[in-house]
Amino acid sequence: MSDIKINRELLPGLDMTRPIVISGPCSAETEEQVMTTARQLAGMGVKIFRAGIWKPRTRPGAFEGVGSEGLAWMKRVKRETGMFVATEVASAQHVYSALKAGIDLLWVGARTTVNPFLMQEIAESLQGVDVPVLVKNPVNPDLDLWTGAIERLAQSGLDKIGIIHRGFSAGDKTIYRNHPKWQVPIELHRRFPELPMFCDPSHMGGRRELIAPLSQQAMDLNFDGLFIETHCDPDKAWSDAAQQITPEVLKLILSTLVIRDEGKQNLSKLAEYRTSIDELDDKLIEILGKRMEVCREIGVFKRDNNMQVLQAGRYNEIMVKRQQLAQSMGVGGDCIQKIFEAIHEESVHQQMEIVNGAQ
Ligand code: PEP
Ligand code: MN
Repeated sequence: MSDIKINRELLPGLDMTRPIVISGPCSAETEEQVMTTARQLAGMGVKIFRAGIWKPRTRPGAFEGVGSEGLAWMKRVKRETGMFVATEVASAQHVYSALKAGIDLLWVGARTTVNPFLMQEIAESLQGVDVPVLVKNPVNPDLDLWTGAIERLAQSGLDKIGIIHRGFSAGDKTIYRNHPKWQVPIELHRRFPELPMFCDPSHMGGRRELIAPLSQQAMDLNFDGLFIETHCDPDKAWSDAAQQITPEVLKLILSTLVIRDEGKQNLSKLAEYRTSIDELDDKLIEILGKRMEVCREIGVFKRDNNMQVLQAGRYNEIMVKRQQLAQSMGVGGDCIQKIFEAIHEESVHQQMEIVNGAQ
């Protein structure tokens, strides 16, 4: 564990009451869109305005941000609303331009944290500068890479460092755009207990409906703040339209959050329980996968021996035996019946595909 100095007071006079809210559009698009969104947010008490000026896009040809022109709009937001302004930097050049324009807080995006060359370049460009920097997690769940990015900034003399958890790319299809894998930021918190932690439910969920539940989960895990994309007209956004909400919806979501201030012991206890559940669920799925593999082998056997797929006697025997065992383990008979009905249905389906020659 490295020993770095963290100053939790990211910005002068910033109220650290949870959740600290950073909000604004994914991208600054036009001066009017920036100002309209900013005024609405300021009107509801948001203190830090975000907008992407330079946008890292997965595929070429997508909107890559308005560039330096947008910095003048951010200055105007600062001047007219009194909010602090924040933008993403991905190179030394971005840092110089952003600082010159008076940007109050910088963040490093997931596709930059992942690259030690860029992190080093950014860290060096910030030497001797007193500006808060929030480091998003790298796209892959590599805790050391995330830690390394934080250490590089600290080595440059920065102490107002925080993190933004936005989830991790998953090869498999999940309900999330980026999987939360909460154990990773929890372990980071263990390494650096003072680090201000934000959660970005917008990029994590990728869909509006997931913002509220993810925000609540982040609050239950004692995160300090939320980093949420808002747009005055989300459906017309030039980037990430599906996950942006209006400032009004943000207000509603914030008003429904339950903030439990139970202290750090509970955070780690809850995290431990959740990590155990995650691991057990992974094992359950792995075992189900193996069970289906055996079913497919049985399917091949039945096909080659001209046997029928469904054998009622065997199904009844499974149900009775599993229910007895489950009851002795404290699992209700009803629950186990539903689970095994579903498993049996899937097994029959997989065998039918083989017997009917779909393979
Ligand atoms: C963003 O916050 O606008 C952004 C590009 O996010 P990420 O780096 O998490 O993809
Ligand atoms: Mn975005």
